[in-house]
Amino acid sequence: MKHLFGPVNSRRLGLSQGIDLLPPKTCNFNCIYCEINRAPQLSCERGEHVPTEIILAEIDELLADESRVRDLDVFTITASGEPTLHTGIGTIIRHIKHKTDKPVAILTNGSQLHLKEVQEDLMAADVVIPSLDAARPESFRRVNRPAKCSEDLETIIGGIADFSRKFTGETWLEVLLVENINDSPEDIVALQKAIARIRPTRVQLNTVARPPFEAFAKPLTRKRMEEVKGEIEKEYDIPVDILAGSKDNEIPDSGKEKEGISEKLSAADVEDEISKMLLRRPCTASEIAETLSMTQPRTSEVLKDMENRGCLTVKIHGGKKYYRTVMG
Ligand code: SF4
Repeated sequence: MKHLFGPVNSRRLGLSQGIDLLPPKTCNFNCIYCEINRAPQLSCERGEHVPTEIILAEIDELLADESRVRDLDVFTITASGEPTLHTGIGTIIRHIKHKTDKPVAILTNGSQLHLKEVQEDLMAADVVIPSLDAARPESFRRVNRPAKCSEDLETIIGGIADFSRKFTGETWLEVLLVENINDSPEDIVALQKAIARIRPTRVQLNTVARPPFEAFAKPLTRKRMEEVKGEIEKEYDIPVDILAGSKDNEIPDSGKEKEGISEKLSAADVEDEISKMLLRRPCTASEIAETLSMTQPRTSEVLKDMENRGCLTVKIHGGKKYYRTVMG
C-alpha cells in the first residue's frame, strides 16, 4: 500500500502532500467523531508499524519528479491513526527537511507529546497541530475514548504545554467540539485554562464536519462556534480560527480535464486512488475531483460505477453527499 496521498488542497495549509505512516486504524484513542470508519487497534506502543525505509523510498520517488513537487506548499505527516506511534517519524521529518526547502506539518492527537523521544522526533517540523478536545476528564473520556494507557489528561495537557514551550516552530492547537459532549460552559472554561497553559501560536476550532464514526456525534451550529471563538479570544491574545461550517468543496468545473494525477493513471488505478482516499476519510465528489484533478462529469461517472458495483457507500451528512469505502 502506498503511504503518500494527495496532494490535497487544504484550507489551512495550502497544497499539501500527505504522508500516512500507519495501517488503519492504529491509535490510542477511539474518538466518537473519527472519520475512519472502523474500530481502532487501541495501543500506546510506539513501533515501526510500517518499515521507515518503505516510506522514505516513496518520498524519494516523489522528490525525483520536480513537476510533482514544484507547486507543493507543505508536506503533512498524518496517519490512519496516531502518527507519533510510528518510531520512524523523526527520521522521516528530517529526511524531508534535508532534501527539500518545503515546510513539514504534523497532525497529532497530542497524547504522546509528554514523551521525550516524541518531542525530539517532532522538533525538526515547522508546524505541529496537536488536538485537545476537552480539558475535563469526563468530557475527554466521552469524546476521545482513550486507551487505558492514555487516560491521564493532566499528563497530556502538561505534555502539549511542555512541547509548545520548547518548540521553535508553530503550534496550532485544534479543538473539535461535539454537541452535548464536550461543549458545555464548564468545558469551555476548562479549555480556556488549558489554552493559557499551552500558549499555542493559534487555536483552530472544529466540529463534526464529515460523517463520524458514531452517528450520535453531532456538530455545533456556526453561531455556537462563533460564540466559543469569542469566549476564547476575549481571554487571550491568541488568534482563533473556525475550521468547519464554512462553504467548501464546491469547485468550478471548467469541463476540461486539468493536468494531474488522473491523466497518468489507468481507470483501475483511478479507482484505486479513490479507494485509498476514502479509506482515510469520507469525501465528497468535488473533493475527489479536485485531489485527482478530474472533471466533475468524469468523477461522477467513476463514482457511480463504483457505487453500482458495491465498492463504496454513500452517506448524506450536513446536506452533502459523502462517499465511503466499504473496506473502511
Ligand atoms: S480521530 Fe484521530 S485520534 Fe481520534 S480515533 Fe481517529 S485517528 Fe485516532
